Amino acid sequence: MFDVLVCGAGPAGSALAWRLARAGLHVAIADAGRPPRRKPCGESLNPGAAAAVIRLAGAKPDSRSDGSDGRSPADQRLGAFLREQTQPLEGWVLHSGGVALEARYPNGWSGWACRREVLDEWLLQGALAAGAELLADCRILSVREHADGCEAAAVREGVQAKLLAKYVAGADGLRSAVARSAGLQAAPGPLRKLALTARISGLHGLNVLVELHLERGSVIGIAPLQGGAANATLALSSAEAARIAPSLRRRPEALLRSLLQSPKLGERAADAMLESEVLACGPFDFPVRQAHSGRVLLVGDAAGYYDPLTGQGIYRALRGAELAAQRLLLAAVEGPPALQGYSEQLRKEFAAGSMLQRWIEYGAARPALFRTALRGLKLTGSAQRLAALVGDCRVRTI
Ligand SMILES: Cc1cc2nc3c(=O)[nH]c(=O)nc-3n(C[C@H](O)[C@H](O)[C@H](O)COP(=O)(O)OP(=O)(O)OC[C@H]3O[C@@H](n4cnc5c(N)ncnc54)[C@H](O)[C@@H]3O)c2cc1C
Repeated sequence: MFDVLVCGAGPAGSALAWRLARAGLHVAIADAGRPPRRKPCGESLNPGAAAAVIRLAGAKPDSRSDGSDGRSPADQRLGAFLREQTQPLEGWVLHSGGVALEARYPNGWSGWACRREVLDEWLLQGALAAGAELLADCRILSVREHADGCEAAAVREGVQAKLLAKYVAGADGLRSAVARSAGLQAAPGPLRKLALTARISGLHGLNVLVELHLERGSVIGIAPLQGGAANATLALSSAEAARIAPSLRRRPEALLRSLLQSPKLGERAADAMLESEVLACGPFDFPVRQAHSGRVLLVGDAAGYYDPLTGQGIYRALRGAELAAQRLLLAAVEGPPALQGYSEQLRKEFAAGSMLQRWIEYGAARPALFRTALRGLKLTGSAQRLAALVGDCRVRTI
């Protein structure tokens, strides 16, 4: 029997397994696929997420610098990863109908852009090196609790399997099978957005800022990646998604056309070429009633998701994994009552970000109001405060 069965090898699952295995628990990570895999994502880690990776790795905040003068192995490992695989991000710039708002993260905070399969693989390898066991091609179907543990029904390499664990962590993303089978899911929310995402080359004028171009209810996000490429993500509002749904079958054309038609990107995108297939996904609005029950807890997108616009999902996955690890380590000693209060803790931790996401979503659907708000932020010099909020510049070290 495992101490903890972690379902899902995304950032939430790998970060949680890494922490638990390092603390000496017997941990398995079951993933429905064979990691690493591409995941539809804007591929930018906000400063809060970057700080959480540094804490997870047990490294120093300045790990990017390459001085090898007596650096710890953790610093060297993270330093190599950052230098070779990530692009620093210092803030974002938002364009909407001729108004531009640039917001830099406050002093000393920065984020990174990183290809998701590279990030996910790095986190997974950290968990495996700490002693976690990977069960690849193992889809969890349901979880049943009994007095002294949980039984998960799974299909592993095409064969029905049963996995026993004292505790189960559902880190299995948006449409979490663990949340569903533990009765934790709420009814899906009203937002029915869709997104198309791909890597492109040949986009001119990239720098250290994530770009957001808001036009006619849709948003194009651009994140500069290592090696001169960029992540381009087109998120369509519910109404826009319904309107252009028929043409979405031709994803590459739909994505490139929207880049070329954007007033601020058009000329810069004249030489843009797709570097990867175009992934489509949505909708995203999947709340949960609560994030734990008995011996089961949820983390990352499985614990409730609303919208990708503010780019806070990886932060939530990694910060949620810290909180979940604290609870599970306590539960290993004190039993299931240690999980009580976890849902409330998560809710409080992410309350400000969740409210902000809803305000931004409300405004983004009303362009005139949105532009007035942007002008107001510019006039009052509040852009950096907003950047700090959206960037989750809160917990630097623990
Ligand atoms: C279009 C888009 C753009 C985004 N852009 C950003 C961004 O720029 N920055 C940011 O911070 N966030 C962004 N996000 C959000 C971010 O991608 C997610 O919040 C993050 O991936 C959550 O990590 P996770 O580990 O919870 O879930 P996931 O990354 O989804 O990982 C879940 C894992 O569980 C596995 N799994 C699923 N079902 C099962 C099962 N039944 N059994 C076993 N395994 C299973 C999957 O194979 C997967 O490996 C974006 C999201 C979208 C949709």
